[in-house]
Amino acid sequence: MFQKILIANRGEIALRVLRACKELGIQTVVVHSTADADAMHVRLADESVCIGPPPSRDSYLNIHQIVAACEITGADAVHPGYGFLSENAKFADILAAHNITFIGPSGDHIRIMGDKIEAKRTAKRLGIPVVPGSDGAVTEEKEARRIAAEIGYPVIIKASAGGGGRGMKVARSEADLVVALQTARSEAGAAFGDDAVYIEKYLEKPRHIEVQVFGDGAGRGVHFGERDCSLQRRHQKVWEEAPSPALNAEERAHIGGVCARAIADLGYSGAGTIEFLYENGEFYFIEMNTRLQVEHPVTEAITGIDLVHEQIRVASGGGLSMRQEEIRFQGHAIECRINAEDPRTFTPSPGTITHFHTPGGLGIRVDSGVYSGYRIPPYYDSLIGKLIVHGRNRVECMMRLRRALDEFVVDGIKTTLPLFRDLVGNADIANGEYDIHWLEKYLAEED
Ligand code: ADP
Repeated sequence: MFQKILIANRGEIALRVLRACKELGIQTVVVHSTADADAMHVRLADESVCIGPPPSRDSYLNIHQIVAACEITGADAVHPGYGFLSENAKFADILAAHNITFIGPSGDHIRIMGDKIEAKRTAKRLGIPVVPGSDGAVTEEKEARRIAAEIGYPVIIKASAGGGGRGMKVARSEADLVVALQTARSEAGAAFGDDAVYIEKYLEKPRHIEVQVFGDGAGRGVHFGERDCSLQRRHQKVWEEAPSPALNAEERAHIGGVCARAIADLGYSGAGTIEFLYENGEFYFIEMNTRLQVEHPVTEAITGIDLVHEQIRVASGGGLSMRQEEIRFQGHAIECRINAEDPRTFTPSPGTITHFHTPGGLGIRVDSGVYSGYRIPPYYDSLIGKLIVHGRNRVECMMRLRRALDEFVVDGIKTTLPLFRDLVGNADIANGEYDIHWLEKYLAEED
């Protein structure tokens, strides 16, 4: 097992990883920018190293500074959290070259999944169902027309190097296609420095369902069921739940089994999430994230398993602590992402939190790095905390969530709490009837 882990992140996820390390008796080092000197993860860590000024590129994304912090403190492993360097293959390779363990998959697996065309090809080879579309990059107009006619309109053109929902264009007819192809390519070139694009069938009303997987790097793979993350705004997840209200036990076991086998065959090591669009009973792979996800606590709530413990254990060579048959699903969990944003316009609302009171009681978990008197720096994302609620079934979970939202107090800044208070009383949400467009339509109607 590791003696000392360096946490290369900030905010709630840095605290989340720190808690797991403390439980395992592992020493902790955190790195931070000058803007985060007061942060909770800095206060609670055994050691901290200031690695630079506020902008992420000079601090949390500065590989040299982070490697130097490992050398100075003698850390033998790095947990990257999510975002920042968590899916940076070069970072994983550099750590390996310095004999520091990256708590995550190999640089090669990160690289494959970071290229969407390569990822889709790999998924298909591993027996994962994919969205019908082009086999690889498409450059010629003629070829694009042929593929679109074959799969049928509407189609979506996506950037191979894309991320965060950027670089996608929908074409509803052949007339749209030429313009969409050109715009997608020039946007992809400008945003990612790579203008490779590919074509897929555009699904009209899918749900976003993702499967949590784990590999031991030596040919074993397990799945931890799915999360439904269909409630999104601008392709950003807002509310996540497990299990999905749309799946039955048979579908769950089927898609979970397919994913676990794929992970085993790939020789993948650590935590991963295989994302699908789900429509009319069919799953369509869209991408794989090679890291821990923001929404991992809903899976922890229904399985009772600490996924960060598991990541550390696998990375240290201890293998997976359980077999598939030992992973059981109990009850229902929902996570609300609480952002420092206006609940209607979603403009960021940094500032000082004058009063912060979190709900408690059975089945409530709040993962947050903020406190009364904390000043939210304007440099980073606006997530200030996650409320995760667990109940014996979805009805109980919703009752408890409504109560917890009532108890939650954040004064001094605007937050998205009022949005969740509205959602929890909505009939479609109560019935679990929503697709990936539901939230945007709801917000447009409210205006
Ligand atoms: P990114 O990496 O940029 O987030 P994804 O491939 O994960 O890109 O897609 C982001 C979102 O775009 C999906 O959650 C979904 O809302 C939409 N999307 C992607 N592919 C399709 C498709 N074939 N049909 C309909 N919507 C899609």
